Amino acid sequence: MIPTTRLAPSPTGALHLGNARTFLATWLLARQKGFRVILRIEDLDGPRVKPQFTQQAIDDLTWLGIDWDEGPVIQSEQVHVYYHAVQQLLEAKQAYPCVCTRKEIEQASSAPHSEDGSTIYPGTCRNRFDSVDQAYRQTGKRPAVRFKVPPTRFRYEDQFAGVRSFDLQEQIGDFVIAKPDGSAAYQLAVVVDDARSGVNQVIRGDDLIDSVPRQVLLYQSLGWDNLIPHYYHLPLVVGPDGRRLAKRHGDSRLAFYRQSGVCVDRIRALLARWLGMDCDDSISIDQCLTGFDLKKVPRDPIVFSPRDHEWILRKS
Ligand code: GLU
Repeated sequence: MIPTTRLAPSPTGALHLGNARTFLATWLLARQKGFRVILRIEDLDGPRVKPQFTQQAIDDLTWLGIDWDEGPVIQSEQVHVYYHAVQQLLEAKQAYPCVCTRKEIEQASSAPHSEDGSTIYPGTCRNRFDSVDQAYRQTGKRPAVRFKVPPTRFRYEDQFAGVRSFDLQEQIGDFVIAKPDGSAAYQLAVVVDDARSGVNQVIRGDDLIDSVPRQVLLYQSLGWDNLIPHYYHLPLVVGPDGRRLAKRHGDSRLAFYRQSGVCVDRIRALLARWLGMDCDDSISIDQCLTGFDLKKVPRDPIVFSPRDHEWILRKS
C-alpha cells in the first residue's frame, strides 16, 4: 500500500498558528518520506461549520507553501458511506440506539468522569432497544447510536508519543458514532474516510490521542484490521496560561497575518523553530524540507506568547 496521510481541517473556525504548526509538520514528514497527501475538509459538525472557512483554510495552506496530491475531499458530500458503516455495526450488535440526553448522562450519579472531566457514558441504553426504529417508537425521541466498548485495556505505540495504554471502560466508555439527526459523528467519519482513501499515516495534535482506541475499535469491528494507520500525535501550541491556543490568547489566525501584510517566510520561521529547527527570521518551504527532523520536534507543548505575536508583526 502507498503510504498516505491527510490534512483534515474542520471549517468551524480559521486556522491559527497552532493548526499551522501541525499541518506544516504533517506535510514536511510526508514530503520527506514520500507519503501521498490528501486534503479532507471535515465539515460534518452541523451548525458550527461556516462554509467560508473551507476556502480560507485552502488559501492559508497554499500561502504556507503546503500542497496536496488529492482532494479536497468534502465529508458532507459522501454521507451515505458513513450511514452504511453505522448500519453494519448496528446489525452486528456492536452498536446500539441511545436516547439519553447530555444532561441525563451528567446527572446519572454513577457516571464516572474521564481525565479531561468529560462524563463517561454509564451504559443506560445498552441492551434496552432492539432497533433504532423501536427506540424511537417507544420513547418518541430520535436516538443517537453508540458503539459498545469492551471491558479491556488497549495499548498501542504512537510513532511520536510512544507507548500509550487506556482502560477502555473507565477512560473511554461507549461513544457516539451517529447523532440523533442521523449524521455521522467524528470518530466514525474519520475511520471510514481514512480507510476509504488508504490513509495509513495519521499525523495530528495530541488533543486527539484518546480517539485512537475508539478509532482502532471501529477499524476492528468493521473488519478493517489491515487498514489501521500508524499514528503520530504531536503536542499542541498553548497560550501562556497553558491552555490550548484560542481567541483569548490574541489573534493568531493565519488570515489575520496574511491580511496584515506579514511575509509568510517569517510565519514559517516561527513554526520551524516550534518544530525544533534552527533558523533565522525567515525560511523558505524548501529550507524547511531540508531542515525538518521529526526526532527534533519538542516533546512538550509550545507556548505562544504576546512577544511572538509582536515579533511576527515587527517590520523586518
Ligand atoms: N478535523 C480535526 C481537527 O481539525 C482533525 C481530525 C483528525 O486529524 O483526525 O481537529
